[in-house]
Amino acid sequence: MSDHLHVAEPGKQFRLEHHAPEATPGLSEDEGEALLPELRLRLDELQELLYADRRSAVLVVLQGMDAAGKDGTIRSVFREVGPLGCMVANFGVPTPEEAAHDFLWRYHLQAPARGRIAIFNRSYYESVLVERVHGLVPKSVWKGRYGAINRFEALLAAEGTVVVKFFLHVSKEEQRQRLQERVDNPKKRWKFREGDLDERKLWDDYGAAYEDMVNECSTETAPWHVVPADHKWYRDVVVARALIRRLEALDLRYPEAAPGIVGTIVI
Ligand code: AMP
Ligand code: MG
Repeated sequence: MSDHLHVAEPGKQFRLEHHAPEATPGLSEDEGEALLPELRLRLDELQELLYADRRSAVLVVLQGMDAAGKDGTIRSVFREVGPLGCMVANFGVPTPEEAAHDFLWRYHLQAPARGRIAIFNRSYYESVLVERVHGLVPKSVWKGRYGAINRFEALLAAEGTVVVKFFLHVSKEEQRQRLQERVDNPKKRWKFREGDLDERKLWDDYGAAYEDMVNECSTETAPWHVVPADHKWYRDVVVARALIRRLEALDLRYPEAAPGIVGTIVI
């Protein structure tokens, strides 16, 4: 991890156990909470500029275990971003039609047009996570998918889409507390599924799958951010800062006025 954006360096061996989910390096909670409002506003400015510039798109990929905070991150980080050019795509168990296609099909359909941000709440990475852990496809199939994913992301990047990937890394104890809260709190109970407990039993298998995912698919064009996610405020600061950094690197500009569209012409 090179800096406070928690990038998993491409080509460098990544070990999940070396990354503390409760870490908040360099920031206190008060400092983090104080930063968030301005980060959200900056993201809104950049999104409008992205929309006006119309040369690039942004794909935000969110992965993490149940209760890792994918929904909460979207709600918090994108709170100020106007809905005009920003959409969320949720991916659950594939429908029969989706399952009848190649594993990337349903995701490519929802990839962002130039000028837009698309947030993938779960993504094609489930094809090397849940499908691997549950043996839904043979090893020979999921192994081949890492390369297919890297080529897919390279295609998107070459055609103008910035791919920004966040693995929200929570501890098993934090997940326990959050799932229990979903059971106890009537306003959160709708989020709880009994199946979440079966997934929790497979915690270590998922850990291995996430580790391989980062090792195989943290690339120069689309590196993984492994975000310490036990503290929601810290998670949100990291995600917002990483997005702002990538958007600022695009050198976005408002388009020039068309010839003749200057001076007092609206009469
Ligand atoms: P949620 O994110 O709580 O709405 O749950 C979505 C569910 O869909 C999770 O249990 C995922 O494991 C599951 N899911 C997502 N993608 C796939 C996939 N490709 N194959 C099987 N299950 C999936
Ligand atoms: Mg769920």
